[in-house]
Amino acid sequence: AGGGGKKKEVKKETGLGLSYKKDDNFGEWYSEVVVNGEMIEYYDISGCYIMRPWAISIWETMQKFFDAEIKKMKIQNCYFPLFVSPTVLQKEKDHIEGFAPEVAWVTKSGESDLEVPIAIRPTSETVMYPYFSKWIRGHRDLPLKLNQWCNVVRWEFSNPTPFIRSREFLWQEGHTAFATKSEADDEILELYRRIYEEFLAVPVIKGKKSELEKFAGGLYTTTVEAFIPNTGRGIQGATSHCLGQNFSKMFEIIFENEKGEKAMAWQNSWAYTTRTIGVMVMVHGDDKGLMLPPKVASVQVIVIPVPYKDADTQGIFDACTATVEKLCEAGIRANSDFRDNYSPGWKYSHWEMKGVPLRIEIGPKDLANDQVRAVRRDNGAKIDLPRGSLVERVKELLEEVQESLFVAAKQRRDACIQIVKTWDEFVEALGQRKMILAPWCDEEEVEKDVKARTKGEMGAAKTLCSPLEQPEVPEGTLCFASGKPAKKWTYWGRSY
Ligand code: AMP
Repeated sequence: AGGGGKKKEVKKETGLGLSYKKDDNFGEWYSEVVVNGEMIEYYDISGCYIMRPWAISIWETMQKFFDAEIKKMKIQNCYFPLFVSPTVLQKEKDHIEGFAPEVAWVTKSGESDLEVPIAIRPTSETVMYPYFSKWIRGHRDLPLKLNQWCNVVRWEFSNPTPFIRSREFLWQEGHTAFATKSEADDEILELYRRIYEEFLAVPVIKGKKSELEKFAGGLYTTTVEAFIPNTGRGIQGATSHCLGQNFSKMFEIIFENEKGEKAMAWQNSWAYTTRTIGVMVMVHGDDKGLMLPPKVASVQVIVIPVPYKDADTQGIFDACTATVEKLCEAGIRANSDFRDNYSPGWKYSHWEMKGVPLRIEIGPKDLANDQVRAVRRDNGAKIDLPRGSLVERVKELLEEVQESLFVAAKQRRDACIQIVKTWDEFVEALGQRKMILAPWCDEEEVEKDVKARTKGEMGAAKTLCSPLEQPEVPEGTLCFASGKPAKKWTYWGRSY
């Protein structure tokens, strides 16, 4: 390779690069990296963002996986309208109480006021369940298992952040109804874990939400929780709710069971959103830009010609083309950057900013040695690959990058986990931005009290989740906050 050595100077000349450092000013760094990495463009309505192809291709990769998996589970896709009438929206009391402040309303058409304002779905329980009621008559109509890929609108007021908290976002929402009691779907929760850990290389903890943090109107909520070490904040990655019979009672989802008796359906709902992409950016990105895990990167390998003054330029370009073709034939997502108005060094920085996992450089020396030079985005390692074993080696390298990203992210996350047993230890760990695992009495009033006692500039602490895999709670263990007997271990911290 060679030829692209003076990257720093090139950066200065071209204005490529980030003006904020991840460790110094995380918020500004994040806003800049999603724009410079060409994922997001800001929009003139606050909390709404343009998701560019570089982001949507990641969404599509996850969507392809998830959609195929739920089809194996006999879940069918459908599409319900974006609008809800106020009467239907308000049918489940707890549900509407939870969502009311965030619901956006259409009040006009053209110049005239609508007779009755229409709500835009913040989620579709109330949109769908009147029709569940119509379609479900007997036990043979169950289970009913539907999913839709769509957008929803929640007019969030606290700190809109691209992907993480936006006012309109993309998601899938699954809605199921069963004849007998169904627990929150852990097959689905496992798929969410796989999206984060296997695709986005982000470690998550499967857990149950507290009463205070559960989905409005549901019985209980299970979650995959991620953690952002830089800010010391937990983030709800995706959720699977057990709705119990609350909604079927309000929407009269009633069927005749095998004994000829009337019974109410049991329901679940579950969703993950474009927030996943933001979590991935926050966890892996660095001061050079995005860092995409190979499994979701729409370009896994970028091939860059490095011509020299007197070298065989055409030969170098041909070798690049041949390399891309060979990789693509093997199912690797490869592309070349032949733009002649940019130097190789500029291109290195550009594709690093976009987070492409592997760069291949081909210069005169590589041509002469029948090799290419690969450079890993995650650790900068430079590896010469013989052309003969190109495909196998690139596949191996991509797998290694995927694995290393996960291992490194897990190490950083685990280093933030702190076990505490007393209030003083809790306060200290919170000050150090930890993800705190503490024995808890599981009382709502105590969680409210912890919130009140930790209120401050950075936001209050709350429960993140109680891990499904519970460490033992030895006899006599006391709640860190109330001193009452502890019932379970729970993660606490600040959150997004
Ligand atoms: P919910 O229906 O409230 O359980 O939301 C499902 C999932 O959507 C949550 O687990 C979050 O990961 C995600 N989510 C919630 N609010 C937003 C938002 N404003 N922007 C993006 N994702 C969100």
